[in-house]
Amino acid sequence: MSRAALLPARKGPGDQERIALLRSLVRAGAENRPGVYQMAGEDGAVLYVGKSKRVRTRLLGYFRCEPEEKGARILRETSHVSWEYCPSEFAALLAELRLIRRLWPRFNVAMKRDLKRYAFIKVTRGTAPKLHVVRGPARDPGALYYGPFTGAGRVREAVRALSNALGLRDCAEDVPMLFDDQQTLFSIGRRTPGCIRYEIKRCLGPCVAGCSSRDYGDRVALARAFLEGRSDGPIGRFRDEMDACRERAEFERAAALRDRIQRLTALRGELQRLRFALESLSFLYTVPGHEGDDRVYLVRRGSVRAEAPAPRSDDERRALARLTADVYGPPEPAAAPVPLSEIDEVLLLSSWFQRHPDELARTQPVPALTG
Ligand code: SF4
Repeated sequence: MSRAALLPARKGPGDQERIALLRSLVRAGAENRPGVYQMAGEDGAVLYVGKSKRVRTRLLGYFRCEPEEKGARILRETSHVSWEYCPSEFAALLAELRLIRRLWPRFNVAMKRDLKRYAFIKVTRGTAPKLHVVRGPARDPGALYYGPFTGAGRVREAVRALSNALGLRDCAEDVPMLFDDQQTLFSIGRRTPGCIRYEIKRCLGPCVAGCSSRDYGDRVALARAFLEGRSDGPIGRFRDEMDACRERAEFERAAALRDRIQRLTALRGELQRLRFALESLSFLYTVPGHEGDDRVYLVRRGSVRAEAPAPRSDDERRALARLTADVYGPPEPAAAPVPLSEIDEVLLLSSWFQRHPDELARTQPVPALTG
């Protein structure tokens, strides 16, 4: 991967002079090859990261923007432009994502907005975790995230039904918890529950010693088993209760249970589809590169775990086989949630193959690994 950087504009030139200088440096140095570029302000902070199949054409395009266009606004604050060539458009897309993820530049709102379109079910950390629906991947590395989903409202209702059925809390993070097994000789009286959910049996009451930490942990494990497709969770119990209500002619209650079953079933279906989509994004993907710089990307569950030059000799083929064993050898349960750090990459890869279905012809299944 080659790199070219523009020198910073001289101290003090006016806007027009500085922009003219930047343009002449781009003209002199940039080539029409795939790559990523960064535009930075006078203090060196990166304002924008972009990618293009033709870096030179893309960068020169900024100088033709109308004053009210985003490109012109970025340029007005730019003092440094640098770019790095990549072997292909796909490589540039990945490099762009990783740079944005690292630098989070102020003008890269599109990716942030794209991520915000998606909802995730978050299982919080701590002694009494709760299920929580968030928009966009919140940056909490200790939490577990399931998704992405579209339609946050629908997911929120299903999560509420699941939490109610399992007795999981849904209160604020800073509500103090007191488990039954934490009671000491010096505990004074009973606490008042923080909300009505304990009284109406929707929450086990970890805030008022209503359960032991173990009981609560078991319910969280059940919720995770449901989210990971290892259990049907409370659906079976709801069905039994619904049938009993119908026999007793309690039709209103039976209808409420039916709605909860429908929400949970829809969520389960969506989780199954996601798991299938993730598993289908596991393959070796060979991408032709600039001047023969072809690369093989080792994709597992929707994220690029490694890349290597496309092998041309037996030695290179053996090296790729070793890398393949490293990447795909260790077991990884299909139900495991996608690590937070990889969610945006999963979204990027699935949209890449949706936009370029022909590229699937360049993928090949992971070869069977021998012990
Ligand atoms: S009963 Fe207590 S732990 Fe449960 S949701 Fe209400 S405040 Fe939270």
